[in-house]
Amino acid sequence: MAHKFSGGCDHVHTHADNEPIDNHTCHCSVCKRVTGQDTTHVVFLGHGDLAVDDSDGMNRQPFNDQNPDGPLELCTCSTPIMLDDKQGRIRAVLPNLMGFAAGNLPDATYHAFYDPATGVPRPDDGRPVDEGLRPEFVWPDPAQPGTCSLAETAPRR
Ligand SMILES: [Zn+2]
Ligand SMILES: [Zn+2]
Repeated sequence: MAHKFSGGCDHVHTHADNEPIDNHTCHCSVCKRVTGQDTTHVVFLGHGDLAVDDSDGMNRQPFNDQNPDGPLELCTCSTPIMLDDKQGRIRAVLPNLMGFAAGNLPDATYHAFYDPATGVPRPDDGRPVDEGLRPEFVWPDPAQPGTCSLAETAPRR
């Protein structure tokens, strides 16, 4: 069965059929440290919108090792698979590092967490530049406790 968006590795597969709820080029220090890239394409999907077929096959570690109690966990097999929000609001993927074919997910719509203090020139590719997430982004409500395992397989209507 073909899904609109599909990623993962040879063992753990992810897929989504709904459009991202946020899609940005991230300039934050955590992404820089974790990915080793100057900027990182980050796609937020609704928590119930990104399904994973083998949750138990992944290891989980804090995305930000300097804030181990933070909400985002990096889920990995031998390669990174996804970021999971412990509060059940979103799942996020870094398309080029998490098994998505080039162009499968739409391009980022803006720059997030740009910090002029880093000395990096302000991006001038015509897309909006924000010093956080775009102001109109609203975090979804957390998933209901106990529904996470259903969300692994059931597409949200
Ligand atoms: Zn694997
Ligand atoms: Zn970031």
